[in-house]
Amino acid sequence: MAQFRSPSWNRLPFVVRLMVTATIALLVAGAAMLFFSARQDAEDARSDLAGQLQAERETLPAAVAEVVVIGDFSTLQQILDRYVGRQSMASIRFQDASGVTLESVDAPITPVAPAWFASWMDLADVSGTAAVVVGGHLYGEVALTLTAQGAVNRVWRRLLNHLAILALAIGIDFLGIWLVLRQGLAPLSRLQDGARALAEGDMAKRIAPEGSPEMRRLITAFNDMAEATQRSQDRLVRARDDAEIASKAKSKFLSSMSHELRTPLNSILGFAQVLDFDRRQPLNADQKVSVDHIMRAGQQLLELIEQVLDLARIESGRMTISIEDVVVDSAARECIQLTQPHADDQDITVLNEIDPRMAVRADWKCLRQVLLNLVSNGIKYNRKGGRLTLRSSPSGPGWGRISVIDTGEGIPEDLRDGLFEPFNRLGKEGSDVMGTGIGLTVSRELTEAMGGRIGYASAVGEGSTFWIELPLA
Ligand code: ADP
Repeated sequence: MAQFRSPSWNRLPFVVRLMVTATIALLVAGAAMLFFSARQDAEDARSDLAGQLQAERETLPAAVAEVVVIGDFSTLQQILDRYVGRQSMASIRFQDASGVTLESVDAPITPVAPAWFASWMDLADVSGTAAVVVGGHLYGEVALTLTAQGAVNRVWRRLLNHLAILALAIGIDFLGIWLVLRQGLAPLSRLQDGARALAEGDMAKRIAPEGSPEMRRLITAFNDMAEATQRSQDRLVRARDDAEIASKAKSKFLSSMSHELRTPLNSILGFAQVLDFDRRQPLNADQKVSVDHIMRAGQQLLELIEQVLDLARIESGRMTISIEDVVVDSAARECIQLTQPHADDQDITVLNEIDPRMAVRADWKCLRQVLLNLVSNGIKYNRKGGRLTLRSSPSGPGWGRISVIDTGEGIPEDLRDGLFEPFNRLGKEGSDVMGTGIGLTVSRELTEAMGGRIGYASAVGEGSTFWIELPLA
């Protein structure tokens, strides 16, 4: 049975496996049948020969008694010759009391079976003697030999006939299996074509049910599956189209809304500034605080709107990105310049350790925007003062890393999951630090749009390092 579990057996075609198994079954059954029937034939032949010998020993003395008594040896010879012509009688010899011997020997039967067969069948010649006694007087003795050759030939011929029948049965079995399976399995290759067409995207492919009931059921199941796949694909395509339409509508709404908000907001901020700096009507302390609040809230709102606009532009695919060789140092200097007043306000020393020769494949505006977000955060979330360092380093073959390292508060545990998701600024409500919760989301989107990666490491109370990695120019 080991071979039926072996992988090579399982790789053989179904037809071959069926033929081999059926042939083995037929051969085993046929061989057993032939063996036992040959043994039975030999057994029968042995007992026939023994019975015949016994019968001859009983009848022969009586048949020759009369001619033996009168001493008619020529008639006796004729009788012996007649007996020898009978079935299986190989030789008869008569010897009288005075030593006269008459003998008749039959022509030997030509053997048709090989010698091993006779010895395997255990079929040998049998001999015996019978005394010719008349009126209590012993006239002589007949010795008989019966040959087993005829029986051996008969058993052998029967065996050959049975072998021929077995070979015929195997032949019919082969032909039958091949014909049945060839016809029966033909729909399988159509199923195979159908499955391939389905895999290549031809969802309309169906197969006409035909063949045996099992095949029809299989083909019907395949058609049902194809139907279901087509339906679910149609549903998916519709859902994708709907989602795309909804996303575009959302982005459009966001950007129109942001535009609408920006104009009045700018004028509020402008007027607040005028109020603050126009010394014609000096403001009292309370009024100054109120103007301060208006300015801060307005600035925060404006920043939020700018970033929502950026995000909407990226998500709707309206953001055009042109990748070129960008010298990181120049982008870094510009960021530092823009954020220097805030850094000074908060007693933060900004260090530029960017290698002036480092150039990356990036979009200049996007890179500057990302660095600006990271540097602003590094200053914003460092109220105790300290250092902010921009540093460049290699990062694997062909990649460069730009790190923004601060000595600030670090990122609290509850913010770390989904830090780059929009509005992830839990616990910051009521915080006096101005933030929108979108800066990091925009930074990630921009970095990935340039084909780069973004990440961070942080320890609460010690500071954070935000980095971006981009292909080197
Ligand atoms: P925000 O406008 O609030 O800064 P961001 O998306 O830029 O929005 O940042 C999300 C949050 O991540 C921030 O509110 C802040 O809690 C935290 N964070 C970002 N950068 C730093 C940093 N350098 N140090 C500490 N916390 C930071």
